[in-house]
Amino acid sequence: MSAAKFSVFEREQILGRLRKETFDLLVIGGGITGAGIALDAASRGLKTALVEKNDFAFGTSSRSTKLIHGGLRYLKQLEFGLVREVGSERAVVHNLAPHLVVPEKMLLPLSVKKGLGYWLTSIGLRIYDYLAGVKPEDQRRMLTRMQTLRYEPLLKTDDVKGGAIYAEYRTDDARLTIEVIKAAVQHHACILNYAKVNDFIYQEDVIGGASVTDHLTNESFIIESRVVVSATGPWVDQLRDINNSKLGKRLHLTKGVHIVVPHEKLPVRQAIYFDVDDGRMIFSIPRGRTTYIGTTDTTYTGNLDQVVTTQEDAQYLLNAVNANFPTVRLTLADIESSWAGLRPLIHEDGKSTSELSRKDEIFESDTGLISIAGGKLTGYRKMAERVVNLVIKKHFSQNTYKPCYTNKIKLNGSDFSSSKEVRHYISHIAEKLSASQSPLITARYMVENYGRQTDQILSAMDELLKSEEPFDLKLLKAELQFTIQHEMVTSLQDFFVRRTGLLYFDIPKVFRWKHEIASACKISLGWDDARFKSELQGLDNLISQVTSFR
Ligand code: FAD
Repeated sequence: MSAAKFSVFEREQILGRLRKETFDLLVIGGGITGAGIALDAASRGLKTALVEKNDFAFGTSSRSTKLIHGGLRYLKQLEFGLVREVGSERAVVHNLAPHLVVPEKMLLPLSVKKGLGYWLTSIGLRIYDYLAGVKPEDQRRMLTRMQTLRYEPLLKTDDVKGGAIYAEYRTDDARLTIEVIKAAVQHHACILNYAKVNDFIYQEDVIGGASVTDHLTNESFIIESRVVVSATGPWVDQLRDINNSKLGKRLHLTKGVHIVVPHEKLPVRQAIYFDVDDGRMIFSIPRGRTTYIGTTDTTYTGNLDQVVTTQEDAQYLLNAVNANFPTVRLTLADIESSWAGLRPLIHEDGKSTSELSRKDEIFESDTGLISIAGGKLTGYRKMAERVVNLVIKKHFSQNTYKPCYTNKIKLNGSDFSSSKEVRHYISHIAEKLSASQSPLITARYMVENYGRQTDQILSAMDELLKSEEPFDLKLLKAELQFTIQHEMVTSLQDFFVRRTGLLYFDIPKVFRWKHEIASACKISLGWDDARFKSELQGLDNLISQVTSFR
């Protein structure tokens, strides 16, 4: 299926609908949770709107570890229900987008001094596979010390007593979010970014919509809706405050940081999940030309709109890597990029940050505001189903609306019958990209980001091919045109951070082409000189934020 139009050029039309129509459901927040709810509701027949105050996936949904995983460590907390749900969702989400949710074998080295013993790990992983219904061929395999070191020779040899290989999936969180948003739009949901909810409107003490400001024009307007759901992640308590309903349970935000180094600086052969001295565990995951490392878990009380990696955060991760991979000797100077996100967890008295449950929770206020927080990227579909079930049960006739079937709604560009077919398609695209500097890495990047939509991007390149520009710039410009036309890109940051991930995983490319891409945006999006300058300045500020640590 080729992608439908979803661009800033349709903004007036979308604003017109938001102003005029009365919706069944208004979703606040365009992270993965809001996106999932919008798709579930719209596909079941509810007239649905969604507004996001920044860009889609601006919050936690572009700053996770980017794994569709069962949460092995939640077994230690005896969260069997959570492990069962997210564990079995992995295969479902993989089937919805086999190019974007890619199987990844995870190496779990067992340390002589830290972590669990061989037998406990073996039993734990067996339970993990059982709860998640993992196919026999993908189930965990225990490794001897020598086998573990063969998988990863960089590990500290005298600290490895064995290991295990088990199945997970990797993804791109922001791309998953935008694809779910696009699917919701294709099911007639009315969706807009850069539109912030400032307040709620009430009819006889019951919420009947929200007042919203369009951040691109600064105009405010009212959206009328029978039901309002806040899927605002870390901002959930702010919205509950506005609704005067922040009573009882409240959020406990914890910060998680990731750092990115060139792959040659930490040349791990596959994703590794390893123990750290303080009892926590950390991932190091190869991706394209880089390896990324994360994460931290510290209580956060600062500005929700600007969460940054401090030197202490970065040094913690470097120390963890250097202790486990002694020959790599990473320093702050090796870090190419980083991101910091907030986990919207539910506060529990007396529990440390890593002990807090990752389960989602739904709050309902007396005036009818439904808020959902907590949970995992992996479980977005089931969380959405629970919220929409509740909305329908309380506010609509249950017989009128279909049961949830988002497990059958393939995302755009996903018509692959297997991972093998995805790999064939990558090889086919690599041949087409033979003029690129690194055809295979570029093909994998294109296909894992866009799936079969890559064909649409490459055919848009034909026009650009006539120019004398380097091939990789032409490809990037074709990508820009696609994301402007079909993915509501309105700024340089939308493109470089959340549609392409280049700010994190290929920052040299951002340095190299940011002026050319800004010039292309100037023409395509009609920016004046002042906007052109402020976009480049904003991008430079962000680059400095993700590359320098105080
Ligand atoms: P968000 O993505 O934060 O979305 C909320 C949105 O609401 C934001 O975009 C915000 O701009 C918008 N908003 C706020 N206020 C308003 C308003 N007034 N009007 C309009 N919009 C508003 N899960 C996994 O499954 N796998 C992982 O590997 C994983 N790793 C993680 C690592 C870290 C460090 C962290 C922090 C989390 C991780 N998670 C992981 C959890 C997962 O990322 C989150 O559960 C998920 O992204 C939360 O999505 P959300 O949509 O609820 O919140």
